[in-house]
Amino acid sequence: AIEEEADAPEDLKPRAPIVTVMGHVDHGKTSLLDYIREENVIAGESGGITQHIGAYGVMLDGGQKITFLDTPGHEAFTAMRARGAQVTDIAIIVIAADDDIMPQTKEAISHAQAAGVPIVFAINKIDRPTANPDKIKEGLANMNLLVEDWGGKIQSHDISAKTGEGVNELLEKVLLEAELLELKANPEKLANGTVVEAFLDKGRGYVSTILVQAGTLNIGDYVLAGTCSGKVKAMQDERGKPLKVAGPSTPISILGLDGAPQAGDKFNVLEDEREAKQIAAKRSQLLREQTVRTQRH
Ligand code: GDP
Repeated sequence: AIEEEADAPEDLKPRAPIVTVMGHVDHGKTSLLDYIREENVIAGESGGITQHIGAYGVMLDGGQKITFLDTPGHEAFTAMRARGAQVTDIAIIVIAADDDIMPQTKEAISHAQAAGVPIVFAINKIDRPTANPDKIKEGLANMNLLVEDWGGKIQSHDISAKTGEGVNELLEKVLLEAELLELKANPEKLANGTVVEAFLDKGRGYVSTILVQAGTLNIGDYVLAGTCSGKVKAMQDERGKPLKVAGPSTPISILGLDGAPQAGDKFNVLEDEREAKQIAAKRSQLLREQTVRTQRH
């Protein structure tokens, strides 16, 4: 593993919360993520979000930022956690108010709890005539999850991802939760963070979406990510806008790695290109040996 020095408290600066949306299939995760994305196109940016890179940042009217992991379903969350990646600061768990608390809702709740990540419930589809948010809140209370309306401490808000009703208030509650966490990172060092997704693009080579969690990434930096490495040739945000630097809580897609790292792999910037290559090669070899061993048994 790469040793990381502890940051001096005075070097830590506030950073945007990183939020994952989870919940049962068809309860409205994608609709909510799409609504937030479309409503929060940063002023002056043309065209809005043009590409799906697995994560995006929004700036709210008050100037506060939130970074969303746009890989709905807790499969990505679980896969990342299985690789030891702790990326999410806050989980929005979407529950359709015209349905029940379903198995995947319960799973999402236990995943968030196991990771020690605070939950904000989004009770969705309240535009539907059969919606019954109180029934959902009662169900949560029966699971020992008391939301605010029920005298508890867990934040929840009734929303419609279709009409947008309540979504801003939901995001306010997410920001409130984030404030309590006092999220900070040191922007003045070599970047590190986590891989969100990566793929091979025919024209451009390997494209990796990464989330910078600490430090600042620059074009020309030498990145080690899982078993891959390479010099950052280009960086883009989710609007396809080229960037030269990316600080903490910024999701970006980068070009220049010699392969596709896995979702949940840590990445680090190393000063020494040769060292990065050596570590990547050693990791590949270890992985091959492990695979051979598993195949034999
Ligand atoms: P996911 O599987 O959790 O990502 O759910 P989707 O976002 O794909 O939503 C499933 C279905 O519910 C789609 O047909 C959506 O149009 C619909 N839907 C999502 N949110 C709402 C809502 O707030 N109101 C209504 N009426 N329909 C919704």
